[in-house]
Amino acid sequence: MTETWTVLSLLNWAAPYLEKNGSSSPRLDAELLLAKVLDCQRLDLYLRFDKPLASSELASFKKLILERRQGVPVAYLLGEKEFWSLSFQVSPAVLVPRPETEHLVEASINFLEEKFPTGCGVLDLGTGCGNIILALAHQFSDRTGFSWLGIDSRPAALEVAALNARQLKLEEVSWLASDLFASLAPENSLFGLVVANPPYITSAEMAGLPPEVQREPAAALDGGLDGLDFYRRIANDARNFLRPGGGLIFEVGDGQAADVKKILASNGYSAISGLFDLARCERVVMGVN
Ligand code: GLN
Repeated sequence: MTETWTVLSLLNWAAPYLEKNGSSSPRLDAELLLAKVLDCQRLDLYLRFDKPLASSELASFKKLILERRQGVPVAYLLGEKEFWSLSFQVSPAVLVPRPETEHLVEASINFLEEKFPTGCGVLDLGTGCGNIILALAHQFSDRTGFSWLGIDSRPAALEVAALNARQLKLEEVSWLASDLFASLAPENSLFGLVVANPPYITSAEMAGLPPEVQREPAAALDGGLDGLDFYRRIANDARNFLRPGGGLIFEVGDGQAADVKKILASNGYSAISGLFDLARCERVVMGVN
């Protein structure tokens, strides 16, 4: 990179370079990373196509592109990811929030509006960066009857979640390091809603994950031999922590909905139902205690 590089010539170099190295969205990746280096919005790049870059900017961009080429997710390089129209800090300690998880948030909002409009306790298991519980707390921030708790087994994830709570000014959300319900006392914790996007990749699939997914914490992905370990544990234990009429709402992996419904049925839940995502995959499964 010795000639004078402009925004446009740099993007035209970086996008095919990332494409050759396996990115499925090379131009977008390059634009997001260049916008980070130039501290501007992605669309502002289009107004600055002819702007020459300083050598320090070039060096920063090249470093990011090399990391991206090695499979580091763009969200980790940017340090943030948008979810439910809110900006979440992310690091390699947490799973990068996925757009399909917004269906879980939507289903949870509908359930709360219908069953507990004036408030109840809400628990998010395996909260990661806190995206689900913080999106819900944000949605209901004008109502005082709710309490919000995010649980994760990994304190490093909870540090990211607590940081997000501060930045989103949602400090009413509490955090607890616990292996699912293990550190919760049932008598003082009855929830109206338990929500979870648990690890659901099968052990066999774990080895074949795309390189960028392999950069994410295995603990957030690995659902055991058939991918359903966490659904069984949560469905069983949640009965002791849900109010009568309280809901358990899961995100499930592709093709897992029928099995998860069976797990809910065998644990005695009623009103078991599923919701489809935009790719017509049955993505959310719920039951009532
Ligand atoms: N709750 C987070 C999410 O849905 C993390 C889930 C996880 O780590 N399995 O993005």
